[in-house]
Amino acid sequence: MIRRPPRSTLFPYTTLVRSLEIDEKKGVNPNSYAKTSGILSYFKGIVGSKTLSRAELQSALEKMKDHLISKNVAADIAYKLCDSVATNLEGKSLGTFGSIASLVKNSLTTSLVRILSPKRRIDIIRDALEAKNNGIPYTIAFCGVNGVGKSTNLAKICFWLIENDFSVLIAACDTFRAGAVEQLRTHTRHLNALHPPERHNNRTMVQLYEKGYGKDAAGIAMEAIKYANDTTIDIVLIDTAGRMQDNEPLMRSLSKLIRINDPDLVLFVGEALVGNEAVDQLVKFNKSLADYSSNENPHIIDGIVLTKFDTIDDKVGAAISMTYITGQPIVFVGTGQTYSD
Ligand code: GDP
Repeated sequence: MIRRPPRSTLFPYTTLVRSLEIDEKKGVNPNSYAKTSGILSYFKGIVGSKTLSRAELQSALEKMKDHLISKNVAADIAYKLCDSVATNLEGKSLGTFGSIASLVKNSLTTSLVRILSPKRRIDIIRDALEAKNNGIPYTIAFCGVNGVGKSTNLAKICFWLIENDFSVLIAACDTFRAGAVEQLRTHTRHLNALHPPERHNNRTMVQLYEKGYGKDAAGIAMEAIKYANDTTIDIVLIDTAGRMQDNEPLMRSLSKLIRINDPDLVLFVGEALVGNEAVDQLVKFNKSLADYSSNENPHIIDGIVLTKFDTIDDKVGAAISMTYITGQPIVFVGTGQTYSD
């Protein structure tokens, strides 16, 4: 049986909509909107039977934009969201606050759904099963800056894959940061304790492939994939060193690792905490992967792991900004520090 992540770990769209203070449940009863204190309240003054013009909407739209920015939505994306609402409202005749409120809510919701609907479908379980049936390992590379939760979330994803009865090889390709390999070894030990071979037909469910520090990460990833292939391990998770998006030599080496090994999936790990900074990271990682690849069709980022979603309260804007910028889906959302989060 395929285990999906528990509901609590699925992308919290409702939280997102609620934190932008667009209440999904309220109807178009003007009285219910009259009590609204969030985005919709900015439109309170604009009622009447006349046709709406952009000039009339300007002040409310400005406040709405500031509101979105205060929730960590990147400024130009907040602007575009407001612009799409303005386009929907312009020229409409409105009688009550209820009708303008429902129009604002609907057009903002439509824009958010459009932004957050992935352009491509990623189904890791299905693709990993297909690779398994073809007798080859399914490979995922994780990249991102330091401290965003790469190793921790790699381990959580490993746990989820084991729960779905896949055996996993973790390739320790962070050959820079002291302690990186040991951190993965500790996760490997814990995960095997949670899923001992007795529960899986005497298979060791997770192994670590490591060659210590200072070696070429691309070469280690390649050896690990070969090892998994030779020993029929189902999935290879490639941990890479954290790197700043502006560090050219390190970005070149990441590009090389991806070019040489062509993983099935390249996941960018970014933390929900950082708002605009996450967008800058993502744009530059994608650009470097494209620029430093000699392939005509470079393999850039396929999806996002959004970490530390439990720490951001209602500042959910990074989720919107990251998907908007790349058009790529958020594949996992990290909501804590245990394996099931
Ligand atoms: P890396 O340098 O990117 O590999 O980051 P680590 O995996 O070492 O994680 C850095 C810190 O973030 C650790 O203290 C993790 O426990 C913590 N962390 C990772 N993911 C989450 C998450 O989803 N929520 C919370 N609250 N903390 C997280």
